[in-house]
Amino acid sequence: MMRAMDENLRTPGPTPIPEEVREAQARQMIDHRGTEFEEMLRETSSGIAGLIGTAGEVFLLTGSGSGAMEAAIVNTLSPGDRVLAVSGGSFGDRFAKIATVFGADVARLDFEWGSPAEPGALALHLANADPFRAVLLTHNETSTGVANPLRELAAVVRSAPGEPLLIVDGISGLGALPFEMDAWGVDLVVSASQKAWMGSPGVAIAAVGARARVAAETATMPRFYWDFAEARSFAASGQTPWTPAISVLFGLQIGVARLREEGATRTWARHAAIAAGVAAGIEALGLKLVAAPMHRSPTVTAAWLPDGLEWGLFNAAMRARGLVIAGGQGKWSGRILRFGHMGDVAIGELAQAIEIMGRTLPDFEHRADGAAAARAAHRAFEAALATAT
Ligand SMILES: *Cc1c(COP(=O)(O)O)cnc(C)c1O
Repeated sequence: MMRAMDENLRTPGPTPIPEEVREAQARQMIDHRGTEFEEMLRETSSGIAGLIGTAGEVFLLTGSGSGAMEAAIVNTLSPGDRVLAVSGGSFGDRFAKIATVFGADVARLDFEWGSPAEPGALALHLANADPFRAVLLTHNETSTGVANPLRELAAVVRSAPGEPLLIVDGISGLGALPFEMDAWGVDLVVSASQKAWMGSPGVAIAAVGARARVAAETATMPRFYWDFAEARSFAASGQTPWTPAISVLFGLQIGVARLREEGATRTWARHAAIAAGVAAGIEALGLKLVAAPMHRSPTVTAAWLPDGLEWGLFNAAMRARGLVIAGGQGKWSGRILRFGHMGDVAIGELAQAIEIMGRTLPDFEHRADGAAAARAAHRAFEAALATAT
């Protein structure tokens, strides 16, 4: 239950965290070279490995998700390596930019914002170009609310000439969307504590498969803080090379335990059902969603702002009522709004958020019935859950 003093925080990260996580994060510090830390690190990283379906290594790095994106690049590539960056939004663009900054020879395959990356188009591109050393993909494009068909895209990359490494930004997808790292042939995937993992910002996750590990042996991009070889040598004794975000790890340990308790299949179904509820609620308010139904993200919903609705003023009015959502990024700034719904989420809070938005819209000459939209959200959620089980 939301406390009265809290905002109804519905951004796609940070996300609201459970009481139990908050309490754990308030604990006294412990020695990060001691046995309690060792147990926590081992339990949390092996728990994450189980949830994402890998027998490979999982490193918990202190930093935000973008740090883990940088780590993925600098540990596997050398300057001049040919890299294909697949992008359909601002996070895909960020991955391309990081690779460029570190000297990779980056080619781009762009899909229209709001549309998914298409396996067929990717296959064609890979077949008609010189081989790439790596392909960069975004699992869940948080800037547009689109979930890419990662399993199919991964299969395409796996059969491409030159056996490129498959490096995935799974930051807003892991822990909430179906994902099987080893079965799908993903070589490296990154995420971050403040997305579906129910932690505060501060810990980045990098899961490294066997091929990425081998690639690291010859990759010459400069690295120090993010060097997986350092992380690996310290992980052998249950430690991290540098002082970790111990408080965030206390919380993340609980977030991961809760996800394991719920079970991945149920977690995935819950997120999908909440997304269906949010979609129905927003549509009931008369707004048009960005993504087509089958490509909608289970963790982020984006909708077009109605004509003439000025985001700055509308956002301020919602915030005055306690509702905090996100606007558009980059070229979509001022054009869309985004609801995050990942991690410790339930339909009640999202329906309440939609109700608040419905109460705010009439102040901007947009007719809406917030209470009816909230009911529509509940109904669509129940229907989606019923078909999932
Ligand atoms: C949140 C997010 C990021 C950035 O993560 P930070 O923790 O803000 O650095 C990158 N990619 C995706 C898909 C995200 O959702």
